[in-house]
Amino acid sequence: MDFLPVSMNIRNRDCLVVGGGPIAARKAAMLHSAGARIHIVAAEVCKEIRELVAEDSYQHISRDFTEDDLLEKTLVIAATNDKAINQQVSKLAKSRFLPVNVVDNPDLCSFIMPSIIDRSPLQVAISTGGASPVLARMLRTQLESSIPNSYGKLAALVEGYRDQVKAAFATVEQRRSFWEDILEGPVAELVFAGKENEAHQHLQKAIDEAKAKPDYQGEVYLVGAGPGDPDLLTFRALRLMQKADVVVYDRLVSDAIMELVRRDAEKHYVGKERDKHAVQQEDINQCLVRLAKEGKRVLRLKGGDPFIFGRGGEEISTLMDEGVNFQVVPGITAAAGCAAYSGIPLTHRDFAQAVIFVTGHLKDGTVNLNWEMLAHEHQTVVFYMGLHGVHCICEKLTEHGRSGSTPVALIERGTTPQQKVYIGSLNTLPQMVKDNNIKPPTMIIVGEVVQMHEKLRWFMLDREIKL
Ligand code: SAH
Repeated sequence: MDFLPVSMNIRNRDCLVVGGGPIAARKAAMLHSAGARIHIVAAEVCKEIRELVAEDSYQHISRDFTEDDLLEKTLVIAATNDKAINQQVSKLAKSRFLPVNVVDNPDLCSFIMPSIIDRSPLQVAISTGGASPVLARMLRTQLESSIPNSYGKLAALVEGYRDQVKAAFATVEQRRSFWEDILEGPVAELVFAGKENEAHQHLQKAIDEAKAKPDYQGEVYLVGAGPGDPDLLTFRALRLMQKADVVVYDRLVSDAIMELVRRDAEKHYVGKERDKHAVQQEDINQCLVRLAKEGKRVLRLKGGDPFIFGRGGEEISTLMDEGVNFQVVPGITAAAGCAAYSGIPLTHRDFAQAVIFVTGHLKDGTVNLNWEMLAHEHQTVVFYMGLHGVHCICEKLTEHGRSGSTPVALIERGTTPQQKVYIGSLNTLPQMVKDNNIKPPTMIIVGEVVQMHEKLRWFMLDREIKL
């Protein structure tokens, strides 16, 4: 971050604008709209400024800039077309620690003016740190059309209730959650519909109800984050990620996805770290209950889909027993994500009429699966957590009749920029894993559909390794 965005109160403060042309006029108008007293120093001023001086809105000092003009000023703008003067104003203002802006010269500025969308009291400021004011203006135009005017009214309406709400809730999280419900719910709708009186009544009623019910309970969002690419999140997942007060996540949730979680949310990692054990499932369940009972909105973020080898069922079962509110958001499971991003359709009219998702996780060194059924032809078998069991998978499938030449794909870190796809067969699978030092998370796809990869592959082609 090159510049810190702040909103400055300059109401009834003396601000200096050096220069009298149209640009100076524009800057002065901006300061004036924020309530500042404007002093313009310039030998000559344009018509626009002259008019405002005539009606006593601005004060005009008709001469060149001198150092004394900076006395008792809160903020300074240099907008002359004389570089040397602008430079001098900047230098002198900086030596007095006065915030100074020099038009079109970021190097001389101690602050820059963002592009503004004004829905007072709501303001949106866009800045590119001086890199491209045109880009900032383009973005502003886009945002202008998507932020209704009535948001300003809404902000003004709720302002009057802040103290009441502060008093009604014990914690910041509860207060925030209350406000989010209000700003997304019927109160906002009423304001947008121009029914401000009703909006006032509604809001007051909601506050009164909250006061009467002080033991505010939180909620758990059990959310599938998909296989890694943040673009594969659902809208609902994203919305809840931005709403949560606290996030409980594990290893499979990619950094790119964590970036999208509300910035100030508390983050708890419960996955395995090197040389350490993962947090026990029972402890995770209890942790979710405790956080929700503290009144927090808890995001339980899981890789893929929470109900596919995700132990989501166990987690919500505990929540249900404890009477904690929750909701479940499905995610794109790793099998679907990896298949799509490696160009391997899991079913195909010619090759596979069924697809089976199985866990290859070995509990006691064996995989207790119905191998006879898995070895059938014309179906695709997708192994989750199968890396440590590849010997067993090959042995059992071939033993039960699946040909050793059946194509196999290994997809490592599927859908992410680190995705790697390895193609081989049941016979070569264990060696593939060993030779390439393949690490989890990796998906194993077994079946004739794997052949389609040759033709349909499209993602991260340069990383592909053929065996
Ligand atoms: N609930 C998750 C699965 C959790 S089990 C889901 O629906 O996807 C964890 C296993 O999923 C990993 O061992 C790996 O086999 C697979 N997996 C998850 N993300 C993956 C990814 N990005 N690439 C490849 N395999 C992945």
